[in-house]
Parts: sequence; C-alpha cells; structure tokens
Amino acid sequence: MQIEFKKIPTTGVHFEVSLGDITVVGNATKIDKTMVRVDGTMCGTVFHACDRCATEFTLKVDEKVEVFASDGLYDDKSGEDLLNIVEFFDGSINFDTILQSELEALRSDYHYCGGCEQIQGV
Ligand SMILES: [Zn+2]
Repeated sequence: MQIEFKKIPTTGVHFEVSLGDITVVGNATKIDKTMVRVDGTMCGTVFHACDRCATEFTLKVDEKVEVFASDGLYDDKSGEDLLNIVEFFDGSINFDTILQSELEALRSDYHYCGGCEQIQGV
C-alpha cells in the first residue's frame, strides 16, 4: 500500500496494511514539509524460533508503532538521531516497507517460548 506524500494531510489519513498474519493499523500525519509521522498498532501472530531453545512457536504481537517517514534523504540533525526514520525516494510512502522494517526490529529482539519464559521468569 502506497500513498503519495503530497496527498497526506496535516489532519492525518488512516491506513491498514497486512503481511501474513500481521496487521498494522494507524494514521499517517504530515508534521513537516518532508516529514510524515506514522503511528499505529502492529498486531497479529508470527512464527519465531525461541532465542533460548530454538523451538518454533507462535509469537503474539501487540505493539505500538511510531515511524517517521521522510520524503527523500533525511537531514540528520544532532540530537534527533534517535527517531525511527524510514526514507522514501519516489515521493510515496510505502506502508509495506514500514511494516517489514517494524517486523524485522521485532524479530531482532529476544523472544522465548512458553517453556523458556518460565525458566527465565519473564
Ligand atoms: Zn524456548
């Protein structure tokens, strides 16, 4: 799903995008000439290999998402590098790209299967 930057209003536009059993629902809001804030919720399920015992299990996902989409190269100013920024170079925000990068970030975290969660006490 793509929306052109110039079509995103300062009042926000609703979006919904899915990949497998994961869905991101939220709003894209223009906050600057070349910057759009994308916030919403990522929920669903994803298969994940437990980071302790490598058993595949179904990970329930219910996470807040906040991404800043930049129309073109983001001019990195000092102190702002903590922002979660995705750059787009064709004048449109691709929400599938945002979902994929959020999913990768989620997968790079540690997740434990039910059995290991009890051992870890998390
Ligand atoms: Zn495990």
